[in-house]
Amino acid sequence: MAGETAPAREDFSPRTAALLDRAETLCEQRGARLTGLRRQVLGLILESDSPTGAYDLLERLRERRGPAAPPTVYRALDFLREQGLVHRLERLAAFVGCVEEHGHGHGHPAQFLICRTCGKVTELEDHHLAHALIDAAKHVGFTVTGATVEAEGTCAGCAATTA
Ligand SMILES: [Zn+2]
Ligand SMILES: [Zn+2]
Repeated sequence: MAGETAPAREDFSPRTAALLDRAETLCEQRGARLTGLRRQVLGLILESDSPTGAYDLLERLRERRGPAAPPTVYRALDFLREQGLVHRLERLAAFVGCVEEHGHGHGHPAQFLICRTCGKVTELEDHHLAHALIDAAKHVGFTVTGATVEAEGTCAGCAATTA
């Protein structure tokens, strides 16, 4: 059966498809495999303008390939998080993709700016901020192994329209 290697029908934009290819290469370099479902889950997250919740994902997968078992989708999400290809925003219980600018790191320091007005999420990767947190924690004898900062506010676009 050639089913394993046949590309799944995806219908992603060229931009998303290019990011997926890049993610696949990153996985290969680490000896991991971006299987069909993982690739599709990542594609749906990358294609979305706003953070995607697990329920939305299941819904969109169902439209594309029929009912998907939630546990398999959750496992795919775990894999993508381990590979540093998506981040989970706890505040929104939703996922955002992380392939384009800095797909290099497992669990790189990340800060997210969440607009309360339009829901847009901007990711920063500010190492000064990350180190400031690590140093502050060190002062109280705490070793930081991972830190995702989520800040709420108003994005530049919304600030301009309400000004
Ligand atoms: Zn990131
Ligand atoms: Zn906004």
